[in-house]
Amino acid sequence: MAKLKNVFSWSHSAATDFELCRRKRYWSKYGAWGGWESNAPPECKTAYRLNKMDNRFSVQGTVAEEAVMWMLKEHQAGRAVTEEEAFQRVARGMLRRCWDESTQGVWRQRVKACCLHEHYYPAFHDLGEREMIFQVADAVKACLKNFREQVLPRLAHVTPEMEIPIAVVGKGDPEHFVFEGVKVYSIPDYVYVEAGKWHIVDWKSGKPKPEHASQVVMYALWAHEKHGVSPENITLSLEYLQSGERLELPVTAGDLEQARERLRDSVQDMSQYLIHADIQRNQALPKSEWDLCFDPGLCRRCAFFELCAPELEGLLDEIPDDSLDAVD
Ligand code: SF4
Repeated sequence: MAKLKNVFSWSHSAATDFELCRRKRYWSKYGAWGGWESNAPPECKTAYRLNKMDNRFSVQGTVAEEAVMWMLKEHQAGRAVTEEEAFQRVARGMLRRCWDESTQGVWRQRVKACCLHEHYYPAFHDLGEREMIFQVADAVKACLKNFREQVLPRLAHVTPEMEIPIAVVGKGDPEHFVFEGVKVYSIPDYVYVEAGKWHIVDWKSGKPKPEHASQVVMYALWAHEKHGVSPENITLSLEYLQSGERLELPVTAGDLEQARERLRDSVQDMSQYLIHADIQRNQALPKSEWDLCFDPGLCRRCAFFELCAPELEGLLDEIPDDSLDAVD
């Protein structure tokens, strides 16, 4: 089989990581590359494994999203379902599987098994296990209730023929477009077209954040660049399922131009960390050139803490001694 090439790519989350901590971007894009090979160096294998780590909030989002899509599909098939059914049929099993895999350390044998930050770095979390499980389950239930009561009525008329298929992570090459030679990953949650208007919907299971707007504008750029949709025919919606809040954002040509500028600037900044700033070769400068962020708050939430710990001596003073007990 031909050797896989680490192609330079851009995404909103990659850019966010890069902005917050250069080293984090190094670990996820370069340090982890090839970590699936049996003869990969130990540090590379560890980075690859840690790069797959979840946390309770990311799992909550994945589970809520899967369950609301199930409710929508059931509705389209003519079956009315309650949030309790959605929780029992979809969410409960996903949550249980994740918790079992994480607490039993299944990821030691199977790297793609669920590994929660809360179990891997327990000293960075003060919520008890039972409390944490109930919080996640309650949040998912609130999402499903608000979806059935508030969102589903708005989408009730959408048929499968109106939907745009979205390539998701884990099933081939995820949704992307190419912008000025750069592969840009852009994976909207749900898209449908009605009377020539593209409705791009993003489900959120957490609280509103200012950066969500710049995230979804990239979806508008995807619709424009990949499908040729004009900005006035795109509507962006952020559905905050847990609270029931909704934000609808019209799109202008100026918004798309701003998104292009952000992309160009970000790609330019990222290229400075590559040999000869060459994104075609995409060879990273040595690890030491990718600065650590030295932000205790960020490091405590970061999957890669184990790898940075030897260099974070000052930070370690602020973290309890047993912080790495769960790390083998
Ligand atoms: S542990 Fe801290 S320094 Fe290391 S990658 Fe994560 S955020 Fe950056």
